[in-house]
Amino acid sequence: MLEIAELSVCYGRVEAVRGVSMTVTPGRVTLVLGANGAGKTTTLRSVAGLHPPAGGRVVLEGQEIQTRPVHKVAQAGLVLVPEGRRVFGSLSVEENLQLGAFTAPKSEVAGGLERVYSMFPILRERRNGPAGLLSGGEQQMLAFGRAFISKPKYMLLDEPSMGLAPTMVETVLSSVRVFADEGIGVLMVEQNAEAGLEVADDVVAMTRGEVSFSGSVDTARDNSAVLLAFLGEG
Ligand code: ATP
Repeated sequence: MLEIAELSVCYGRVEAVRGVSMTVTPGRVTLVLGANGAGKTTTLRSVAGLHPPAGGRVVLEGQEIQTRPVHKVAQAGLVLVPEGRRVFGSLSVEENLQLGAFTAPKSEVAGGLERVYSMFPILRERRNGPAGLLSGGEQQMLAFGRAFISKPKYMLLDEPSMGLAPTMVETVLSSVRVFADEGIGVLMVEQNAEAGLEVADDVVAMTRGEVSFSGSVDTARDNSAVLLAFLGEG
């Protein structure tokens, strides 16, 4: 389990995240909803080791990791796929995937590539072409593939559907379900609440840096705090 307990994160004197607690379970998707500026990205970045918290704990399968730098957090099995994809545009699709697999034993790389290509067949077709020529949705698949090939236990996904065509949103978000079904614990921030709820198991709503709701998808659908986060007014 990944436990985020009473996490607080500051930018200078501004406390952007205040006492946030949530749990991510292997095999489940936890969806984080909230208006712009609610502190969703800050939470993810802090959990991933990119911004040390001012307080609270991040416990990954019993180990406190909140003081570890990002590469140590990644080694412990937690990867962040940031908003905006950030693929290496001049490298080929396959080279981008190989970067994700650089810590894996050489004998396992081919198998990892095969699994990514069977999940996203378009990446196989484009494997020798530059990643920079992929569409936004294909770049999101590549960013997911690069994270998945590193064999994470937990994936933090920031706004994966941002800027994508509706058909791509479905492809990208259904792959999130596949990650969870493989046993990965997924923590996903998604502004497209309707599409996010389709693949989520658990929901956390954030309002102005704090958790305003936490519960199952079924209980989330008719909760007023979730509705406000949903409408972008939380
Ligand atoms: P969005 O959907 O717009 O990305 P969010 O819920 O992810 O919103 P954050 O990006 O985490 O929210 O921002 C939380 C608060 O922290 C906001 O008030 C924002 O202005 C502030 N903030 C974010 N990044 C920084 C930074 N680098 N320096 C100072 N303040 C920041």
